[in-house]
Amino acid sequence: MTFSVTVLGSSSAIPTLTRNPSAHLLNANERLFLLDCAEGTQVQLRRLKIHLQRIRHIFITHLHGDHFYGLIGLLTTLHLLGRKDTMHIYGHPQLEEIIRIQLEASATTLQYPVQYHPLDFGGLMLIHEDERISVHSFPLKHSVPTCGFLFREKIRIRKQESTRAYAYCTDTVYDESIIPYIHGVDLLYHETTFMQSMARNAAEKLHSTTIEAATIARMAEVKKLLIGHYSARYDEVEPLLQEARSVFPETYPAEDGITVEV
Ligand SMILES: [Zn+2]
Ligand SMILES: [Zn+2]
Repeated sequence: MTFSVTVLGSSSAIPTLTRNPSAHLLNANERLFLLDCAEGTQVQLRRLKIHLQRIRHIFITHLHGDHFYGLIGLLTTLHLLGRKDTMHIYGHPQLEEIIRIQLEASATTLQYPVQYHPLDFGGLMLIHEDERISVHSFPLKHSVPTCGFLFREKIRIRKQESTRAYAYCTDTVYDESIIPYIHGVDLLYHETTFMQSMARNAAEKLHSTTIEAATIARMAEVKKLLIGHYSARYDEVEPLLQEARSVFPETYPAEDGITVEV
């Protein structure tokens, strides 16, 4: 069964010429789950030749623009392309109102149902499951209410293989309280906005550094760490990667358009 993550955006708040802000696409047995939907996401999906209508579930971590300013555009495009299937959106309770106002102001009535699933920021919550996968949300520490997401396979065809799991943790300050939620996952995406020399800045802005993300990965005994959400001040990822690998060797850098097997 396919279980892979495609990075649609690896930048933090500001898009650059080579990096879009946050969005990941998880392919779980050819079911597509979109995690965050920053500005530029629908263009990235087109560039990678991903059929937009196959997406049925969108998970928004928090209401900073670099994680959801592409949502109204994507929803409108799906409408213009004749979508009929329900779209499920998981996010902050205010998200439904934000989308409603945008649609109302532009006199747009979507021709397909949208079902909103408000997130609870209190602890580990099961927010979706089908016969193949379960999705949990869990709280992260950031400047606004934020959730991470945990995707776990429920069964494998060949019994000797263990189930795989992917955790998506952005945006967050260094926070050891998330370790029980992500312990032992095959792939952890953990934001790495800054290099370690900017640790104070990271703490003030409730973001994480290379060493901090790698320390969480090591303590949580994950198999692989994917870093991303890089500050636009960094032209090259290599120095961030080397810092993270000094603590957790199985670290890989997110780059727009890459696909990583979980
Ligand atoms: Zn962000
Ligand atoms: Zn944020």
